[in-house]
Amino acid sequence: MAYQALYRKFRPDTFQDVKGQDAIVTILKNQLKASRIGHAYLFCGTRGTGKTSVAKVFAKAVNCEAPTEDGPCGECEMCRAIGSGASMNVVEIDAASNNRVDDIRQVIEEVRYSPAQGKYKVYIVDEVHMLSTSAFNALLKTLEEPPPYLIFILATTEVHKIPMTILSRCQRYDFKRITVDTISDRLAELLEREGVEAEEKAIRYIAKMADGALRDGLSLLEQCVSFYFGEKLTYENVLRILGMVDQEEYGKFIGALSGGNVHEIMKCLDKLVLEGKDLSQFVSEFVWYLRNLLLWKTSEDTADMIDLSEEGLEDLKEAAEQISIDTVFRYIRILSELMNQMRYAASKRILLETTMIKLCKPQTESDYESLVQRIEQMEKRLESGIPVSPEYGIRKPPDTESHAKAKPMKKEYPKAVPEELEQAAKNWNTISRKFDAVDLGMMADVKLSVSENNHLVMVFDEDTPASYFAEEDKKNEIEHIISSQIKKEVKVMVKLQKNKQEYDSIPELREMFGIHKGVKMEVKD
Ligand SMILES: [Zn+2]
Repeated sequence: MAYQALYRKFRPDTFQDVKGQDAIVTILKNQLKASRIGHAYLFCGTRGTGKTSVAKVFAKAVNCEAPTEDGPCGECEMCRAIGSGASMNVVEIDAASNNRVDDIRQVIEEVRYSPAQGKYKVYIVDEVHMLSTSAFNALLKTLEEPPPYLIFILATTEVHKIPMTILSRCQRYDFKRITVDTISDRLAELLEREGVEAEEKAIRYIAKMADGALRDGLSLLEQCVSFYFGEKLTYENVLRILGMVDQEEYGKFIGALSGGNVHEIMKCLDKLVLEGKDLSQFVSEFVWYLRNLLLWKTSEDTADMIDLSEEGLEDLKEAAEQISIDTVFRYIRILSELMNQMRYAASKRILLETTMIKLCKPQTESDYESLVQRIEQMEKRLESGIPVSPEYGIRKPPDTESHAKAKPMKKEYPKAVPEELEQAAKNWNTISRKFDAVDLGMMADVKLSVSENNHLVMVFDEDTPASYFAEEDKKNEIEHIISSQIKKEVKVMVKLQKNKQEYDSIPELREMFGIHKGVKMEVKD
């Protein structure tokens, strides 16, 4: 048997198979029952919501010799003829490619003859808004005085482009986007019929990605099923094929961003890259996630607009508690800018990483939203008992007393600096060019010093870079870079000194050797 795409194979045959358009189906069924059939119908709605499917079921039903409660019987001669496309009673026209007045004239010529068989001639005109003005005018004449056996079903995704004169002669039906629940139910039903095993979570995810269009849901499902043919369809596999990021992951990003945890962010991003995700797509989905967060935080009764599963909503709620509205605005603003920049970026990854660090570090910006986020971060730290240092934005008023205290301690310069450390300090600018942009960004404020056992000490006054570089792997990497540059072994130590006075009193090696401090952000790819 020839292979058939799922969405063709599972085109609804009866009204019962039409999903998510109950109100419309009920009205049409009642009209059939009462034999009060109109002559012009206008089906509007976004793509994939079932407009042409309903039109076809209706076209069959009006001609069926033994219609049932659910529409066409599917067995009589008319049903079979229409089903196989052999009947002249149902004509489908794609207005996108037949939009000239001559095309419509031809149709109008045809409709002058009553059907040889069956009761109605049904013309289904898809994308009717594509018709030219003269074509619309020609159509209008027929709609004004339709022969009793004629039915026009006009379908469109852009109802605002339909002339008023046409609109006023049609019964209008607005097709809703189909809910995630309805789509997943339908997908599950079809998978069962096809004998394909699938995780519920996998189906739900596909349904969500279909974004209200059942037909898209079927195509996505098809993509996944054919890739893992004969295997159980798992959530992981679906994510892999569709190249999407799990909703939960966004929650993790929110947690790490609001906590200022650069290390965690880098780990999450690394995972995305390893899994081969498209980073631009990730950003645009993340913005969408933030939009949902914002809706959740700003208004009640948003479940409809958010359209997430129950567990998705739970996750979202949890993430929403960690973050303020202003911060969400800030993230959306910065990430939207990033979306534009990424289009032209040679290295999307570095751009994304540096932007994420920027989101993590509101202290690098001074606009209102960043200030609010700094206060939030401070509050969080105070709540959890971590002392707040000036890095988080509190600057003491310059009263005389604290001024006196803040006087820098005298720097104790080390007696002798081992030669390799001297070289490392002197060549730091060259060495630093071997680091990637993220490392460079993180070490922008590093102080280079020397320990008692002659290690090179990287001193930070902030937790984030300190914990980032304190990782054994990272330290080894730095040692390796330094040694390969100066051809001498150097041991590296990372130190966190949050007390401003003490931090200031630590000698800086580059200063000692007259090297200008400050690393230029030169990105090497
Ligand atoms: Zn029939």
